[in-house]
Amino acid sequence: MTPVTTIIEPFRIKSVEPIRITTRAQREAFLKAAGYNVFMLRADDVLIDLLTDSGTGAMSAQQWAAIMRGDESYAGASSYYRFADAVRDIFGFRHVLPTHQGRAAERILFSTMCTSGEVVPNNTHFDTTRANVENTGAEAVDIPVPQARRPSEPYPFKGNMDVAALEALIAEVGRDRIPLVMLTITNNSGGGQPVSMANVKAVRAVCDLHRLPLYIDACRFAENCWFIREREAGYAETSVADIARELFSYADGCTMSAKKDGLVNIGGFLATNDDGLAKRETDTLILTEGFPTYGGMAGRDLEATAVGLKEVLEHDYLRYRIASTAYLGRHFAAAGVPIVQPPGGHAIYIDAAAMLAHIPPRMLPGQALVGELYLQGGIRAVEIGTVMFGKTDPQTGEERTAAMELVRLAMPRRVYTQSHVDYVVEVMRDIYARRESISGLKIVWQSQPLRHFTARFAPAAP
Ligand SMILES: *Cc1c(COP(=O)(O)O)cnc(C)c1O
Repeated sequence: MTPVTTIIEPFRIKSVEPIRITTRAQREAFLKAAGYNVFMLRADDVLIDLLTDSGTGAMSAQQWAAIMRGDESYAGASSYYRFADAVRDIFGFRHVLPTHQGRAAERILFSTMCTSGEVVPNNTHFDTTRANVENTGAEAVDIPVPQARRPSEPYPFKGNMDVAALEALIAEVGRDRIPLVMLTITNNSGGGQPVSMANVKAVRAVCDLHRLPLYIDACRFAENCWFIREREAGYAETSVADIARELFSYADGCTMSAKKDGLVNIGGFLATNDDGLAKRETDTLILTEGFPTYGGMAGRDLEATAVGLKEVLEHDYLRYRIASTAYLGRHFAAAGVPIVQPPGGHAIYIDAAAMLAHIPPRMLPGQALVGELYLQGGIRAVEIGTVMFGKTDPQTGEERTAAMELVRLAMPRRVYTQSHVDYVVEVMRDIYARRESISGLKIVWQSQPLRHFTARFAPAAP
């Protein structure tokens, strides 16, 4: 007997949400009205929404059942204890502060630990992480391994931090100006690429040498730990829960957006082993989020997160999750579409500069491809290139372009089936075949900072 190898969605569907099929003519009108910016579309006008994997996942029947058990007591709710126990069981930190989402945990952590003139190293800061570091007057420094900047080069742990660069940075600025070191797992801005256990240990060793605390941005910790199990020697027989316990044992605390690997639509937390720091963080939590046993979350959301944190560690779920992202990447690559290799955990990143080589970066090839995905198939993706990270020179009106022109298709958790993904592949194949007919865009209106959310575009004359 040959074993069955098809990887299936490890769930059946109990509640459905219709999605609306529109015509190309309708989508042309919607996109034009949105100023060619898909953030300005109504979600009802989108067929397959791959804008983000954040807060867009489907909850399980167990999570919906837990919602009904939510204890909404102001203080000491049983839901808090279930939540804190779930967090402690996996992450192992003594103090657990619930926040309304990841950036609230970041704001409390950095505003407590950082001051002006200090430097925070990270493999790559996510945009809200960077903004919260900079908001304290400190500098956010990205030190990924060099492989992270080469889209087509496969490397199993492209999320790793460059440990030599960390040591050089400490030597340059001095340990007293570094309040903490941070590692983002998986590395979202770097393509959802994992960090190896060996890299976490090496970073910890440098931190120990200089007596620096290490914090982890844990948003996609389960996906990262699955990659460790699959790719790193010595972990093939270890459960993902045990891999996570080992990984977090090397850290002093973490921030978490439960909208990712918490499998919920809203929520997050901040955790630490530092008693003194926890006291000061709790003061800020009370001031800006809420009483310590609910922070920024309703009792029902604490319950759903406690269940989600367990479900996300199930191997059948993670096997399906990582396989379905890889499936999309494999089919894009087979069609000739240049993608960041290897596929990350939560998203596929298309190298739009390579795919639309006839559109120069200043004419926004990534944004042009995002528009085409919507026009052709009602698919919503996001540009991660010059629109997001570039700048218009106020004197000359020239675009200062980004290092890479990527388009991200992020996979919501447990939401779309394989036939949805096959549809996305078919749409992309068609776009790829006539890629030379796609033309560039120009920005006609923008605001700062984070211009990509609200900017308006128009077709650019070649
Ligand atoms: C989403 C995300 C955050 C911020 O979390 P929010 O819940 O969106 O505030 C921080 N870091 C990383 C790596 C993320 O992906």
